[in-house]
Amino acid sequence: MLKLRCPYCKFMADETELVPGGEAHIKRPLNNCSDDEFSSYLFYRKNPRGVHFERWLHQYGCGKWFIAARCTQTMEVFGTYSAQTTKPPIEIIRKIKLKRPEWDNKTK
Ligand SMILES: [Zn+2]
Repeated sequence: MLKLRCPYCKFMADETELVPGGEAHIKRPLNNCSDDEFSSYLFYRKNPRGVHFERWLHQYGCGKWFIAARCTQTMEVFGTYSAQTTKPPIEIIRKIKLKRPEWDNKTK
């Protein structure tokens, strides 16, 4: 079972206490974008096999959204942080790079 530490209330929550919110750090395209760009923003997600940043809601806890960095293949969690950030914190990037030197950060 997946367990994530909520960065707000510091509680180690089971997956059953959380609600997944999908891929994190998705940037909304500008108003003058093409229909293809806008439909990609609305409907298409990366769903990688490996390191992934995803939104989670601590529904049966403090009720706040946060972001988890984890590996979808091994379920290893690299850390969690506030959903109010526009890109992953440097300490989480360092932790991922330490364990996965070949990993390429595509959230830049
Ligand atoms: Zn919480």
